[in-house]
Amino acid sequence: LIDIKDLHKSYGKTPVLKGLNLRVKKGQIVALLGPSGSGKSTLLRCINGLDQYDGGSITIGGDLIGKTLAGTFLLEKEAARQRIKNKIGMVFQNFNLFQHINAIENVAMPLIWTYGETTPAAYQHAFGLLKRVGLENRYGALPGQMSGGQQQRVAIARTLATRPQLLLLDEPTSALDPELVGEVLEIIRDLAQVDGLTMIISTHQIRFAEQVADYCVFLDGGVVVEEGAAKVVINQPQNPRTQRFLSLME
Ligand code: ATP
Ligand code: MG
Repeated sequence: LIDIKDLHKSYGKTPVLKGLNLRVKKGQIVALLGPSGSGKSTLLRCINGLDQYDGGSITIGGDLIGKTLAGTFLLEKEAARQRIKNKIGMVFQNFNLFQHINAIENVAMPLIWTYGETTPAAYQHAFGLLKRVGLENRYGALPGQMSGGQQQRVAIARTLATRPQLLLLDEPTSALDPELVGEVLEIIRDLAQVDGLTMIISTHQIRFAEQVADYCVFLDGGVVVEEGAAKVVINQPQNPRTQRFLSLME
């Protein structure tokens, strides 16, 4: 589904991704591990088309995602970009909910604005999604009236509303108090069972990665230093950098 070749990206003069290669198959659940600053968020933002990159290529289902060549941002046809965007959902560390509208409005609004659903249909659809993440009783709550775990579950419901084929989750539990991590991981674990949904999850939760992911990619210094079956990479890492990182995580 995703084919990333020799990806390069710098912020100003600081190189962040330095020739990264990665392939992800449809339906794969990929855990993205690596130290802070290794480029996990940057990689996810490039895949989602939120960030431009400087060299190499990213294709999703054969469609090229925008890139810069000689300083010019080149895009395939706008229609293709929209198609690509609609297949990709992203969940952020800090939830990114609209603070002044309640849970069900947060889920329903994108359906009305972006997908042209009628208001009653969007609310019905949104209520079903809140139910799926166990929040049907909190549909009227503002983000500020909910726990971090509940807010992240609303954010997941909102992303699912667009029926993504590819779901990118950037440290979905790192802003949560430890006792709230479990409820969000439970939802993600549940999503991993959805047929055909491909997920890339950057996380520092090694045990969760081992349980949920079938493939594990370890980033360091802007390149993939080790990858393979999640259980193997996590329990028998071969690369010294992976070994050291994982031993500190235990
Ligand atoms: P973490 O585990 O802390 O989330 P990460 O692996 O997600 O780290 P990135 O956020 O991708 O790492 O950052 C990689 C490097 O790029 C870091 O050195 C960071 O300072 C730099 N960086 C990220 N975003 C920007 C930006 N918008 N402008 C300048 N530098 C940036
Ligand atoms: Mg990050």
